[in-house]
Amino acid sequence: MVQAERLYLVLLGVPGAGKGTQASLLEDALAIPQISTGDLFRYNLKNQTELGVLAKSYMDRGDLVPDEVTIRMVEERLQREDCAKGAIFDGFPRNLAQAVALDQLTAVHGGIRRVLLISLEDDEAMRRITGRRVCRTCGAVYHVDFNPPKVEGVCDLDGGELYQRDDDKPETVRNRLFVYYKQTAPLVGYYFAKGLLTEVDGSQPIETVQAALLAALRDAAAVGG
Ligand code: ADP
Ligand code: ADP
Repeated sequence: MVQAERLYLVLLGVPGAGKGTQASLLEDALAIPQISTGDLFRYNLKNQTELGVLAKSYMDRGDLVPDEVTIRMVEERLQREDCAKGAIFDGFPRNLAQAVALDQLTAVHGGIRRVLLISLEDDEAMRRITGRRVCRTCGAVYHVDFNPPKVEGVCDLDGGELYQRDDDKPETVRNRLFVYYKQTAPLVGYYFAKGLLTEVDGSQPIETVQAALLAALRDAAAVGG
């Protein structure tokens, strides 16, 4: 039985394309939560849960955490009350098995409404990732040059300490890009064939990308206004 439709959106793009940054802005603009599997894994890592311990070795190498645990984690997250109107997926799905699982998890509420591909060249992605800094407390994302905090090393939102992710080292980033092209890039074709894909140029400033994403959603009648 199909229940009330929900606004489920997917953000695709290479590591560093700006998915997390844009998902946070969309969360405010659309009033539906961002579900970042990377953030969920990092939260588990920080709290040393069983899931965090399992995920760590994969994340350290820049490989994907096994589908079974990743999909179960998303399934649980989707059952929380804040997802009653939909969700913005950032960093999930990352391969075909996850995409098929997500179709199944969302089918009862109308499935994925739109997939936004944020495109960016690899060398620019590398520059973005090596300058990325993240708040230890709230996970807010900054860049030392492109999106600096007001006070160096300190989060604008909650005063938390900013740190560089262990997996943002150049060697690990190269493997993450490789994994993206091998496992995640085929999803571009998967969603294109379903008529769900919109591509936005991710090399523009943060606010321009955000405006382009919102315009794309309106054009596709995925959101009103
Ligand atoms: P980025 O934002 O740079 O693309 P993420 O924060 O999304 O990186 O992911 C960091 C790491 O967490 C990945 O390299 C991978 O090990 C793990 N991870 C995140 N999402 C998934 C997923 N959907 N499936 C498997 N592993 C994932
Ligand atoms: P992803 O989630 O796709 O890995 P992030 O949102 O974490 O990407 O962005 C990667 C880095 O690039 C961060 O340091 C972020 O501040 C910066 N960034 C994001 N979008 C832009 C943009 N449009 N222009 C310049 N820097 C950006």
